[in-house]
Amino acid sequence: MITLFENDTHKNIFYSNLSVGAMVQANQHLIVHNKVGMLLDPGGHKVYTQLFAHLAKQIPINALKHLFFSHQDPDIIAAANGWLMITDARAYLSGLWSRFIPHFGVDDLVVRKITPIPDEGMCVDVGGAEIKFIPAHFLHSAGNFQVYDSVARILYTGDLGASLGQDYEIAENFDEHVQYMKGFHQRYLPHSDALKMWVKTVRKLDIDIIAPQHGAMIQGAMVGQFIDWLETLECGLELMGDSFPIP
Ligand code: FE
Repeated sequence: MITLFENDTHKNIFYSNLSVGAMVQANQHLIVHNKVGMLLDPGGHKVYTQLFAHLAKQIPINALKHLFFSHQDPDIIAAANGWLMITDARAYLSGLWSRFIPHFGVDDLVVRKITPIPDEGMCVDVGGAEIKFIPAHFLHSAGNFQVYDSVARILYTGDLGASLGQDYEIAENFDEHVQYMKGFHQRYLPHSDALKMWVKTVRKLDIDIIAPQHGAMIQGAMVGQFIDWLETLECGLELMGDSFPIP
């Protein structure tokens, strides 16, 4: 557990080490404002029990009022049913995926607790703090959102900024860190046009920390370096030639 920001009313923490075995490392992020919690991308079944126990050390479980799902992937949403059944939380997920996640076994009783996020994004009040769901479509999912917390000045970027294979939780040197991000971004992102839209969008925000769902946090001067890096990165279709091979 690492605390990214803390003052009298507001706290941002993340868990980096709850993924086990063959599962891809994933971070689970918690925002608490005035003792009300929002959990971001809580993960799958094996993470659920551990995360639930950790969460209970931070806030009473009935103070978890919001669950955010950046997109529809299993490392984010597979345990949605458990969270919705056990807690009072309302969940938020791109409207594109509303009818797909019931296939994960989300019970009819709790499906109505999932608010579809419209393509243009929305704001949610967390204990008096305004949290923004910022559109980041095609980065990598077709219906994809990031979370901006203006109190902590943290942008939670989901799969954008993901790094795999490094042995640290906070990046120290951007140039060294690129090797752990590059392959993921080149293959999981569809096209640099989406990145260029994202760069134009996030340059309007004050950001102290980029907090991805996999791997290390990016903070301070490295935030600008990260945005600059993505502005010119080629990815996805741009690296795949003009037709697909037929095996
Ligand atoms: Fe994903």
